[in-house]
Amino acid sequence: MHTITTFPPYPWLQDVWIQLQAVRSSGQLPHAILFSGAEGLGKFELAQALAWSLLCKSPSESGQPCGQCSGCNLMAAGNHPDLTVIEPEDTGKAIKIDTIREFISREAITAHAGGYKPVLIRPADAMNQAAANSLLKTLEEPVSGTIMILISANPSRLPATIRSRCRQIPVIVPAAEVACEWLQTLKPESNAKVLLQTAAGSPLKALMMSDPERMELRQELLGEFCELLTLRQDPVVLAGRWLKQDLREILNWMCGWVIDILRLQVVPQPAIMINPDHRGRLLDVVRVIDTRRLFQALDHIYEARGYVDATLNDQMTLERLLLALVKSRR
Ligand SMILES: [Zn+2]
Repeated sequence: MHTITTFPPYPWLQDVWIQLQAVRSSGQLPHAILFSGAEGLGKFELAQALAWSLLCKSPSESGQPCGQCSGCNLMAAGNHPDLTVIEPEDTGKAIKIDTIREFISREAITAHAGGYKPVLIRPADAMNQAAANSLLKTLEEPVSGTIMILISANPSRLPATIRSRCRQIPVIVPAAEVACEWLQTLKPESNAKVLLQTAAGSPLKALMMSDPERMELRQELLGEFCELLTLRQDPVVLAGRWLKQDLREILNWMCGWVIDILRLQVVPQPAIMINPDHRGRLLDVVRVIDTRRLFQALDHIYEARGYVDATLNDQMTLERLLLALVKSRR
């Protein structure tokens, strides 16, 4: 919690922050809010900052916490008793009904001191059906002061009954100049533009990628991906090796590589590329690819991205995907 030092936490969240604070000042804050938007846009930090401005005893009109009151001290120390964060026990796993039940029973016995009680749920779509149903009851009979803030990059995976009870606030990909300036300030030595393109415009993802080790890994995997398409890698062996990495990230990278290959098939110098730094390498495999089949393989990747953190077997998912890619040759 102490990581937040500015309100809003990131420059590109200024508009949504102003919008939220206007609602807060008017006393019209809904009891359930859903922050939706791609990964890497700072939705969780936005929720934390909003929670802080709600728990401060005298925030400014623009939502800046005073930094002096007991609420601010507890937030800075990261242990405000009125703030609850609900997340899966292990990253990528489901939020279970027990977690929601435990929260609800605690909610019922805690004496309400008249202030806000923010509850952050992330990712909200990690709630399994039973957990979502259990939460639904709370959404239907909200305890005064409780503000549920649901965070999701895949809001369509939330039950419609939950979605319809939340005020949805989209967090959008920032303008390229804003993101670029922010990244350039933090990482002056990096190529902010390329990083942002590779991260589909998500500044925090781009920041993560600016890590030289990650850039190296991406390059290494891209090499193996090209070898797969030129039949110099075995899909099953490769799947076994890639499983040791973050599958979600690999799928995102793969999407970018495939989209770039499809673009390169149309023109050798596309105006926009996701991986402009690897144009030569991708151009090399263009000649072996059948466009229609590669589009099918891309569908497989999109599909896999949708269920990668569900309960399905990652190894099987990846093997099937790599086989589909091998079959996308002419
Ligand atoms: Zn304060």
